[in-house]
Amino acid sequence: FDARDGLIWMDGEMVPWRDAKVHVLTHALHYASAVFEGSRAYGGRVFRMTDHNVRLHRSAELLGFSLPYSVETLDAATQETVAASGGGDLYLRHLAWRGSEMMGVAAQKNRIHVAIAAWEWPSYFKPEERMAGIRLMWAPWRRPAPETAPSASKAAGLYMICTLSKHQAENEGWHDALMLDYKGRLAEATGANLFLVIDGELHTPVPECILDGITRRTVMDLARRAGITVVERELWPEDLDRAQEVFLTGSAAEVTPVGQIADRRYTPGAVTRLLMDAYSAAVRAPAWEPAVA
Ligand code: PMP
Repeated sequence: FDARDGLIWMDGEMVPWRDAKVHVLTHALHYASAVFEGSRAYGGRVFRMTDHNVRLHRSAELLGFSLPYSVETLDAATQETVAASGGGDLYLRHLAWRGSEMMGVAAQKNRIHVAIAAWEWPSYFKPEERMAGIRLMWAPWRRPAPETAPSASKAAGLYMICTLSKHQAENEGWHDALMLDYKGRLAEATGANLFLVIDGELHTPVPECILDGITRRTVMDLARRAGITVVERELWPEDLDRAQEVFLTGSAAEVTPVGQIADRRYTPGAVTRLLMDAYSAAVRAPAWEPAVA
């Protein structure tokens, strides 16, 4: 993935894709002192761009560092990256990390770097699998408690269990894995939030130790506008028996129906389809704003 044409915004400059490198003694590589964002541009416009750049800042603060670029500068850099990548429909990856000046756990003086890359990534799950509903196994790992890890941060270190779980799912013939949390509650998939449709209402876990997804919040807003009751609460595996529809949300995954979780099966239905359509319209709306709750 590193040997391709294109430009990456790195520390204030557009750098040729092949030259956007770090040193092997980078603190982030050894100690996971990195945070990131995944977002999408539709027709050259990044959906909820400022929200992603605000979350990047907050994620960094939760890891004890502050970004050397304001949200406004990052917004401009994001737009510059989209333009340099040809505009249109793109996936974007923002990364901020501690550099390589000092080696050791303590590295408070290490430079904080920021990079933004964009490329074409049409679908997180294959379109034909998506419409049938993807298949999830139970993840072998649980989301840690907020006292165990800074779980509100979109921190690289938290993705160790996501990669392990996703690889196991792929190797055993599933599309993804559904994680429980440290209490045994339903949490999230390895890169997307979880929603259940129970008797026409939308139920989703409270974001205590899961990522409070920007797509999650968009979909909750779209559901309320469509007159659907949205319930944020603790969800347990037994709640899966009461659900008629299940779907995942994420900037990459968008709204993805779930067809199976271990031995439970679901058919994507009216609520999932309504929210898939509403989300597809929202991301291409000129200046989509969440309704004030
Ligand atoms: N949970 C996890 C673990 C994720 O990686 C993502 C993707 N960023 C999400 C949820 C969804 O977040 P968002 O809607 O902000 O992309």
